[in-house]
Amino acid sequence: MRLRADHFDRHIKNMGQDTLWRRSYACACISAESGSPDPKHALCRGKGRIWDDPVKTVIGVPSQTTSAKMIAAGLWEQGDMTIVIPRSSPMWENGGRYDRLTMLNSTDVFSLPLTRGAVTEKLPFKPATITRVFWLDPLTRLTIDGVFPSVSDDGVITWGSGLTPPVGAVYSMTGTKFTEYYLFDQFPSDRNEHQGVQLPKKAQLRKWDLFGR
Ligand SMILES: [Zn+2]
Repeated sequence: MRLRADHFDRHIKNMGQDTLWRRSYACACISAESGSPDPKHALCRGKGRIWDDPVKTVIGVPSQTTSAKMIAAGLWEQGDMTIVIPRSSPMWENGGRYDRLTMLNSTDVFSLPLTRGAVTEKLPFKPATITRVFWLDPLTRLTIDGVFPSVSDDGVITWGSGLTPPVGAVYSMTGTKFTEYYLFDQFPSDRNEHQGVQLPKKAQLRKWDLFGR
């Protein structure tokens, strides 16, 4: 059988998902003695990893068969996902462990308490939508619904005019965010070349929240 890489790639594009890919690097703040990252390093926020700016790419989401095999082998956690990386994606060449992926076709609901004006008033993601903002009336303890702020790509919240939570008050923000994963592992057993043709690669993704923001 002759395999055609461009056919595979076209098929993946058709069943594919638009994704933002951020390539990951080990940070250079790792201590030579302990092997641990510097918890005070602002650039990586003590995670020991840094990420490139996002690059838009398309990946494929295959059938459940691969997942079933992984579950049987005990290599699967709740929420994991398998993807197929087409040869045409920059991830084929440079995708690696701890890369961050934002799935632009899939969202999760979030609901978080925040304090207006506090240094912690920041989201660890850019919301896809905001659906409700409320805080409590200090006397009645009943909810007051307000206008929605704008949120930058890196999660910084900016309030405009209208009914907004008072400075210092705790408010609740609810909305949706794009589902995020990190690349947990490439499947090493994949034959990436078949008769000289470069085939798509498979990789396992794990929910980003498990990385520990
Ligand atoms: Zn660092």
